[in-house]
Amino acid sequence: MIIHLKKNTSAEIAQKVAEEVKALHYKKEDFYVLITGSGLKEVPSSIEVHVDQAWPMKNDLQLASRSYMDKKREVKIGDVTIGGDTNNVILIGGPCSVESEGQITSATELMTSLQLSTLRGGCYKPRTSPYSFQGMGLDGLKLLDKMRTNHGVNVITEVRDATQIEEVIEYSDVIQVGAKAMYDQGILRACAKTQKPVLIKRGFGSTLQEFAQAAEFVLSGGNENVILCERGIRTFETGTRFTLDLCGVAWLKEYTNLPIVLDPSHAMGYAYGIADLSKACLAMGVDGLLIEVHPNPKEAKSDAAQQLNYDEFGKLVGELSHLAKALNYNLV
Ligand code: PEP
Ligand code: MN
Repeated sequence: MIIHLKKNTSAEIAQKVAEEVKALHYKKEDFYVLITGSGLKEVPSSIEVHVDQAWPMKNDLQLASRSYMDKKREVKIGDVTIGGDTNNVILIGGPCSVESEGQITSATELMTSLQLSTLRGGCYKPRTSPYSFQGMGLDGLKLLDKMRTNHGVNVITEVRDATQIEEVIEYSDVIQVGAKAMYDQGILRACAKTQKPVLIKRGFGSTLQEFAQAAEFVLSGGNENVILCERGIRTFETGTRFTLDLCGVAWLKEYTNLPIVLDPSHAMGYAYGIADLSKACLAMGVDGLLIEVHPNPKEAKSDAAQQLNYDEFGKLVGELSHLAKALNYNLV
């Protein structure tokens, strides 16, 4: 159950009431939000006097649910807003990994030349093998920071485990929680303690409910700036890297109140499918796309097969702009 306490409720009373109903709680503007397990179906009479409004819930999709908030939440990324009543679609682009100053500067210049605001580059890469390139770490984060200072872009980068969370929070505008980290509660709880937007990628073996519950960890800790990212799930098909779950995206749009970003790059795994998928995803009505682009994909240190080259990316952005205009979306 989600409970809004009355506006003048003191911190002490909020704490007491929360303990009484075994609720998590956080302060939102000038009132407290309490979240109990979904088993509680009625407000106990002992706390009624402090309660403004309450929403019983069927399961643990609570703060992220349409039953609680029947509109899409807004999330601000620098000076760009997605979700809410905006028709903005954020096009997040950049290489899979930050590899050198030259490479990331070039990718940043590509983004700004196309009037795109949000650069992505991984510095702590969650690789399947310990022998593959693991990312530039803190040096990479400092390069991203340099890009935002010198070129005015917003940056998004991933946190691989809770040991780097402080650094990633400091140097990024959006924290990416990767598919393999979706269940990492150390990371999710740390993300709840900041107000930086958090983009959570769906684990490739996770149900939609589990995906939404990962978002609940961040929301229930008081960070309401959560974005969901569908990046493909594992099916029996091996012809493509993963299977982009667009039915799942329709489900997320129907049952959750969070902005949604689609990542065709990791789902497809091959550059040849990315343009078609990006256009389909845009037409479906989402809040953002995440597309990998590299100055020389063949030489990329991670995800070489799926990254677009600059010509392919530029052409795709042109096509997406036409489509966005026809559909009344603004590419940002
Ligand atoms: C990535 O975004 O580069 C990445 C590793 O993605 P995922 O966590 O979806 O596998
Ligand atoms: Mn990648």
